[in-house]
Amino acid sequence: MTDDLTRLSAADLAAHLVTGDVSSVDATQAHLDRVADVDGAVHAFLHVSGEDALATARDVDARRAAGEDLHPLAGVPIAVKDVVVTKGIPTTAGSKILEGWVPPYDATLVERLRAAGLPILGKTNMDEFAMGSSTEHSAYGNTSNPWDLGRIPGGSGGGSAAAVAAYEAPLAIGTDTGGSIRQPGAVTGTVGVKPTYGGVSRYGLIAMASSLDQAGPVTRTVLDAALLHELIGGHDPRDSTSINEPLPLLVDAARQGAAGDLRGLRIGVVTELNGEGYQAGVSARFAESLEVLQGLGAEVIEVSCPHFRYALGAYYLIMPSEASSNLAKFDGMRFGLRVEPEDGPVTAERVMAATRGQGFGDEVKRRIILGTYALSAGYYDAYYGSAQKVRTLIQRDFDAAFAQADVLVSPTAPTTAFRFGEKLDDPLAMYLNDVATIPANLAGVPGMSLPNGLSDDGLPVGFQILAPVKADDRLYRVGAALEAALENTWGGPLLDRAPELEVSR
Ligand code: GLN
Repeated sequence: MTDDLTRLSAADLAAHLVTGDVSSVDATQAHLDRVADVDGAVHAFLHVSGEDALATARDVDARRAAGEDLHPLAGVPIAVKDVVVTKGIPTTAGSKILEGWVPPYDATLVERLRAAGLPILGKTNMDEFAMGSSTEHSAYGNTSNPWDLGRIPGGSGGGSAAAVAAYEAPLAIGTDTGGSIRQPGAVTGTVGVKPTYGGVSRYGLIAMASSLDQAGPVTRTVLDAALLHELIGGHDPRDSTSINEPLPLLVDAARQGAAGDLRGLRIGVVTELNGEGYQAGVSARFAESLEVLQGLGAEVIEVSCPHFRYALGAYYLIMPSEASSNLAKFDGMRFGLRVEPEDGPVTAERVMAATRGQGFGDEVKRRIILGTYALSAGYYDAYYGSAQKVRTLIQRDFDAAFAQADVLVSPTAPTTAFRFGEKLDDPLAMYLNDVATIPANLAGVPGMSLPNGLSDDGLPVGFQILAPVKADDRLYRVGAALEAALENTWGGPLLDRAPELEVSR
């Protein structure tokens, strides 16, 4: 066994916990020490809940010692994106407007983590209200990419991805409205899964765009993602869009995939999600991965989804429209920050204006203005209504594509991690980063990103797999097969090839 508990996958750590040669207290403390050592440089965490985590760990160790039947991941620590509410642990969604807010309840997925005995290490940094692709829109400073501290870790869930990539946590929770689990996974060399819409409860997620938001796993291996997905997924009566059916068997699919036999599987390469605008190294790794999958017996065909070229446009109308409505509740009266006007009467309206003026950052304001405009009488049909029609066309493209192929694939992001500041003054350039991830959110289909090599610049590249609604198991079968084959050729996980993380002990 490696003597550094932070280097183990969640599955391997769980195995040690079961045999009893490692305690959850030791595993949790090792990760808290790692956070203390490196998070000054990475800044993946907004809040570290060490006492809370160790209390859970002690409880799990006691229950195990008493011979209780425990969840397979019991005792394995986890980090949670700060957009997910946690009872007694501050939750800001990366915004000044929620500074100091301590939620009085747990999100359903957090309840499930706690019930299964996963110590919660803390809350991870993110773009404010999950709006962004770099964490540069966080009100609390950037998170650095552990591969190169001068570069972005992706966004909005850059904190969760960086925490896992820097071995500060074996597992993390992310949320994905347009790619915020998958794109950070791609640029940090980690695994990220956006489940089928409705597959993981949204109860207790601070909503960005309710018809697009999904929480999901952020991990270093495909099997770990399957284990975490099975734990947090499944029906929740408190979320009216939650699917009232059992999840497919994800861990089984991952184990089956790792055996490396993909005969009979048809893989569709989406013409519109590759080529022009994609970095050469990204396209080269993608082509190589297709060959690997063919070598495992899969049939690779080309499929066209002609309306995908309108996905970004539709997303940037639907998402801000929903966000403008969801964010209306931050009024200075109920949660977090309250700012009174500097002079003049203290009326409700003036407190709201002062609070929202100071509490929201520029990107959030930009999107509230965009959304309010798109929904306003006279423009509704031209903008929001048209975007919804495009959404239907994109869903039909998916239906047609999945009639030909079992899964669809593409690069996850068009480029590797960019430098801080490179896209900050150009919102459209920032938005373009999500060109390959957004169609899945518009259609509700599940998607995975897993690392498939390094680009010419030595930075990690992600491979995206998409499956039909409620067929999340296919992601795990194909993902685990590709992961195993690639690691065979690399001689180990991609993260081992990180330039010793600039942040080693
Ligand atoms: N980067 C995208 C955006 O800014 C996606 C965000 C997300 O998935 N939360 O909207």
